[in-house]
Amino acid sequence: MIQELNDEQLERYGRHILLDEIGYEGQLLLAQKRVAIIGLGGLGSPVALYLASAGIGQLTLIDFDQVDLSNLQRQLIHNQQRVGQNKAISAQQSVELLNKNVKTETITTKLTDDELLKITKQHDLVLDCSDNFETRYQLNRICHKCQIPLVSGAAIRWEGQVTTYDFRKNKQPCYQCLFPLKSNQGSIQESCSQNGVIAPLLGIIGSIQALEAIKCLLELPTLAGKLTIIDGLTMELRQFNITQDLSCPVCS
Ligand SMILES: [Zn+2]
Repeated sequence: MIQELNDEQLERYGRHILLDEIGYEGQLLLAQKRVAIIGLGGLGSPVALYLASAGIGQLTLIDFDQVDLSNLQRQLIHNQQRVGQNKAISAQQSVELLNKNVKTETITTKLTDDELLKITKQHDLVLDCSDNFETRYQLNRICHKCQIPLVSGAAIRWEGQVTTYDFRKNKQPCYQCLFPLKSNQGSIQESCSQNGVIAPLLGIIGSIQALEAIKCLLELPTLAGKLTIIDGLTMELRQFNITQDLSCPVCS
């Protein structure tokens, strides 16, 4: 594990180090952290790029899907030469071009609960950048079990939402408190791949996820306990308090 920042890193991360809330110690802490990103699509693209440029120590990039021409409208970490390539591998190439200090690992297969549990335990934070409910519920269960914070984002059509579930702390609400399994059964397959989504909205939500991840790793204030919803058409921003559902099968 890195014990001090070298001259190249001091220059590269200078604008972070100038911030009172980060400083040298905070930047060094980021360089010691391991973060997993599930989904390297529209949300995972800005998340991986910002966390790489911000100098997170290790990024584990998880996606079993391939880059498709129709992804390039919003999935900025990929490019035309990479159509047909696995998304985690393509993202790894972009991250390595951006910041050689960041260690990367890729996982290109669909993970069972046991496999995901084992991987989650090796990380300080997980980002849900997936586009389906099955993965969201799976990540929520596993991160809660491992007491690893989960930064969750979603976007469909013109609307995006983002929050942080800080499972390091007791009595935190979880994704399933917010969206009980039954309420989503009818739309379990709904995702932006079938519904359309405005491209820059993914950049906004993904960038907020990256910001939340950095703050969470540095124990700065996050969205924990609050859901932020952004309407890209009206540019209205709403925030709701999320409370723990005392009958939630995951967290109660
Ligand atoms: Zn819950």
